[in-house]
Amino acid sequence: IKEIFDTMDYGPAPESAAEALAWLVDQGSRFGHFINGEFTAPGDGFDSRNPATGEVLATLTQASQADVDAAVEAARKAQGGWAGLGGAGRAKYLYAIARLLQKHSRLFAVLETLDNGKPIRESRDIDIPLAQRHFYYHAGMAQLMNSELPDAEALGVCGQIIPWNFPLLMLAWKIAPAIAMGNTVVLKPAEYTSLTALLFADICRQAGLPRGVVNIVTGDGAVGGMITAADVDKIAFTGSTSVGRKIREATAGSGKALTLELGGKSPYIVFDDADIDSAIEGLVDAIWFNQGQVCCAGSRLLVQEGIADRFHTKLKARMDGLRVGNPLDKCIDVGAVVDPVQLDTISCMVAANRAGTMHQARVEMPEGGCFYPPTLIEGLSPADPLMQEEIFGPVLVSCTFRTPAEAVELANNTRYGLAATVWSENVNLALDMAPQLAAGVVWINGTNMFDAAAGFGGVRESGFGREGGWEGLAAYTRPKSKAKQLAKVDAFAGSGAPVD
Ligand code: NAD
Repeated sequence: IKEIFDTMDYGPAPESAAEALAWLVDQGSRFGHFINGEFTAPGDGFDSRNPATGEVLATLTQASQADVDAAVEAARKAQGGWAGLGGAGRAKYLYAIARLLQKHSRLFAVLETLDNGKPIRESRDIDIPLAQRHFYYHAGMAQLMNSELPDAEALGVCGQIIPWNFPLLMLAWKIAPAIAMGNTVVLKPAEYTSLTALLFADICRQAGLPRGVVNIVTGDGAVGGMITAADVDKIAFTGSTSVGRKIREATAGSGKALTLELGGKSPYIVFDDADIDSAIEGLVDAIWFNQGQVCCAGSRLLVQEGIADRFHTKLKARMDGLRVGNPLDKCIDVGAVVDPVQLDTISCMVAANRAGTMHQARVEMPEGGCFYPPTLIEGLSPADPLMQEEIFGPVLVSCTFRTPAEAVELANNTRYGLAATVWSENVNLALDMAPQLAAGVVWINGTNMFDAAAGFGGVRESGFGREGGWEGLAAYTRPKSKAKQLAKVDAFAGSGAPVD
């Protein structure tokens, strides 16, 4: 992947922030919520900062209970009419949104990088194109709904809560399938990274999306709690396992549908017959993509004993060649961590290392800003907290294994089960490993491959439910026949007539 990037003609100059900053200034650099097709007046709130520089980009409003209630009410009012448009009617709007995301892709990419700190190469070539693809794909699926899912109907109003690591992409994963299937939504972006969600709200307006179909409220976890408790039919959450657990408890017995996409500590297994150079490039993508702030990051290297020394030596040399710096610089490999709080969490976890041998990339580090060097900690025991807990930063931990059976045992030895990667030139061995790994997705000789048409999600404490593909669509519908049956039962109870 790096070779492909390096051949792209990006030129040496950093991407200009001018258009994105002008957009923020045009909005008065203060934002309210997007409720019932309009932006509300900005109220008391909090600053959104550029993590690479610490500069304030905009001031956002902390939603009150009244704001959340108004958003849910708008979504409820809009839902019948929206579902009534039918799949083909709704598809027109999803296509329009996808096209507008494409038209403004540069603005979205720069705004995302300013707000989140991720390298512009990633937001421009991965986040924003995948978000567009999600809307195109689900526009198509909305059109197919009547023929392919004739017995499905919308759930109603969906509350959606997303994290800060892929702000627009996580929004797309939530909103596109929900509205394609006839639901309306109240979405809360993460407090550190709400700007592209607010620009998206503007896109919904430009696309002429009926009022109330998409509502966006900003604020911290307390607002997420209000949405969870609101009169909604489903909660879709992506974020940490600890918050996911609270949401599961809060919705238990409420009758609300629930999907949880949570954390991970995904194994990256390298056998001694692997193509080492490719496995190392894959590992760079697995753990240093988005500064390691990726739910399915290959954050636990398990390398077969025979090649362990050679592999680690090559890996350290590669680490020393990574470029850390200004996320708007097109040549940068590792940008800024999202916020000082996250930087502190990473630093504290690494500082607790007692047993492992640490290598931090010998690279020039930018002054100021939330930067952390690519880090490797070798020789940890499987039970070490650093091998067990999600660090959610550019930190790789590693240990060795001897046999495939031991690799499986080590790989499955955490409470998580989101993703796994296997590198081997023996495809039979890799295919034999895959079903033994406790993971929602297993990549062979590759990593971080996503597609709107493929369901993504975890097992164990990585959550349940799938986003994307047919499974993702099913999670935003209920069987129509069930509703009909209930209506028949009601009719029977009322009339005394037999149910046919
Ligand atoms: P987080 O759980 O702290 O926050 C996620 C969202 O939940 C934010 O919008 C936050 O404001 C909100 N929130 C916080 N407390 C809440 C509460 N009590 N009730 C309702 N909402 C609440 O997670 P984060 O730090 O933003 O994101 C990082 C985590 O997300 C990591 O663990 C990562 O693995 C996970 N993640 C998972 C996936 C996946 O698809 N499985 C994708 C991306 C991120």
